[in-house]
Amino acid sequence: MSNQLYVSSPVNALVQGILREDKTLKEILGHGNFGLGTFNDLDGEMVLVDGIFYQLKSDGSVKISETSSSTPYACVTHFLSNQSIKLSKLSSFIDLQNSISKAMLSPNLIYGIRVEGLFSSLRARSVPRQDSYRPLVEVAGEQVEFSFNSIHGELVGFWTPDFMGSVTVPGFHLHFLSTDKSHGGHLLDCSLDSGTLWLQPIDQLVLDLPHSIEYLKADLTKDTLADLNKAEH
Ligand SMILES: [Zn+2]
Repeated sequence: MSNQLYVSSPVNALVQGILREDKTLKEILGHGNFGLGTFNDLDGEMVLVDGIFYQLKSDGSVKISETSSSTPYACVTHFLSNQSIKLSKLSSFIDLQNSISKAMLSPNLIYGIRVEGLFSSLRARSVPRQDSYRPLVEVAGEQVEFSFNSIHGELVGFWTPDFMGSVTVPGFHLHFLSTDKSHGGHLLDCSLDSGTLWLQPIDQLVLDLPHSIEYLKADLTKDTLADLNKAEH
């Protein structure tokens, strides 16, 4: 196994309000065809599936992003899973997490996660575009929530161990995209009618460190885990 998770910038920089880097989506594609993240100025949630970037904006719209756009934070991999597991009715995100956990060999690896199915209910959020640098936890306080019933779609994301909490969002981090590509967001809760789970164990992490002035001058010695958990879970 030598699958890699590529992280474009440590998440603690994003948590501290560095919402802009010059890493293009084209560069990100060189590291994977599957993943999630956000866009410069925190302009919506990102889903990358089958090599196409979707921008899930806070007004509820979804658009395909130009690869010339940039991101302050993206996590991607080359998704190659051939391990598919049928999922039956699950009444909450917690139940889904338990089902995925049972299928994982160990919580100490990273996993790419894809769940396709019919969701009896689903709650997702997106964040409004920011004009200035602000800590993520403040911005997340202005998040816009969307609720859906009986919606077909897929969840795209990762499990990463807690000890990686300054590099990536620890635990389960999933973004939703509807099958008709018209709705989506960062997953808050869901109940599943039926679906299929694909899991990809990953045992390598590649982390890029930005060279922007903001990043080079930031004080990244603070423990941002509490803020991260508040903003992302
Ligand atoms: Zn997210």
